[in-house]
Amino acid sequence: MSYTPIIGLEIHLELKTQSKMFCGCKNDPFHAPKPNIYTCPVCLGMPGGLPVPNKKAIEWTILLGLALHCKVNMVSKFDRKHYFYPDLPKGYQISQYDQPLCSGGVVSLPEGDVRIHRVHLEEDTGKLQHTTIDGKEVTLIDFNRSGVPLIEIVTEPDIRSGEHAKSFLKKLHQIIRYLDISDADMEKGSMRLEPNISVKKSEDEGLPPYKVEVKNINSFNFVKKAIEYEVDRHVSILESGTIPKQETRGWNEDAGQTFSQRSKEHAEDYRYFPDPDIPPLRFTEQYIESLRENLPELPEEKARRFKEVYQLSDQSIEILIGNRQIAQYFEDAVKEGQSHNLSPVTIANWIINKKVDIHAVSATDLLHQIIQATTIIHVSDDEIQQAIQDTLSEHAKAVQDYKAGKKQALMFLFGQVMKKLQGRGDKKIIQERLEQSLS
Ligand code: ZN
Ligand code: MN
Repeated sequence: MSYTPIIGLEIHLELKTQSKMFCGCKNDPFHAPKPNIYTCPVCLGMPGGLPVPNKKAIEWTILLGLALHCKVNMVSKFDRKHYFYPDLPKGYQISQYDQPLCSGGVVSLPEGDVRIHRVHLEEDTGKLQHTTIDGKEVTLIDFNRSGVPLIEIVTEPDIRSGEHAKSFLKKLHQIIRYLDISDADMEKGSMRLEPNISVKKSEDEGLPPYKVEVKNINSFNFVKKAIEYEVDRHVSILESGTIPKQETRGWNEDAGQTFSQRSKEHAEDYRYFPDPDIPPLRFTEQYIESLRENLPELPEEKARRFKEVYQLSDQSIEILIGNRQIAQYFEDAVKEGQSHNLSPVTIANWIINKKVDIHAVSATDLLHQIIQATTIIHVSDDEIQQAIQDTLSEHAKAVQDYKAGKKQALMFLFGQVMKKLQGRGDKKIIQERLEQSLS
């Protein structure tokens, strides 16, 4: 029997705006010196607090939507999503229900395109800390994170393997970093990942009758492993003739396993309704176009341009467009390198092979390094041959060692030849000649 994994992803992303989503409190929970200092009646959920949406957060959500080839909805609104949890003092999260800011995008990948179902904007919750004080188990609440702008990205179930999910996430992460809207740091929890997984018999039509969600995973590799673990688990359940239980699971990295958290037989009812405190948002075409014009050159376009203009290999391009800084560094060096007749390929290879630290070496210094290393002072063949002959007769012991199989002897002899030539000449050719003479 052959099986097809059906996988979708839900990603939460904290935006790095100056202030929170619906109040003026500072948005920097990770560096806050103390808990509960970036708070006010709005983000503490006190009665009467009135939310005011953060314009930058809305702009950035639309920018991300545009970068993911989504349609921007010209009318959007915020809704209340009700559930009880101690880190959510209002008893509801301000989120978006049926009119998200963006919907219907796509991310193209060699393993298969992944369609984007929606991109919406909501607020983060506070953070619970389970600890022991004076021998008592207690839970502390920190509201510094409460109300931080949070984007939720939901994909269609187009992903077919753990590897596919990982390459989608890497590309999404790269786009987010290019837009410079979030740290997207998984260790700090500013990018949180939730795959939902099911498996069907390959010949069956439609989607499987169940799905399993794995909650809050904080690395691309763990997502890949959790998916692979779940797919194997589902296949063996299906082989035994039953259907896996619909549930929420967690990932235990030490055990390399998922574990059951709670069964989820029915969709939860959050009693969504439009937030009466926040008027609907209406955008003009002009406004959306002005945002589109503000998009930076994204990785895909940059890759295309680097191939066309600089004729680099796909491998080199992948490294050089890794982030905007390294791409910019490369282009600065190319521009300056023109007057020294240094080709883009030479510069690219140097940056990649020497693993140049772009923050430590300026583009100008880089060019000097390349020029010094690649300038070949011409030496005649006779002169090379003479230097080799002299070296071999002066160092008979090393020659013997080499013939006895000691590889280091070759490097020693080569060093002696280069010394005689005072570092002049093409190192590759000289080494070839030396080996010829030795054999
Ligand atoms: Zn506040
Ligand atoms: Mn959410």
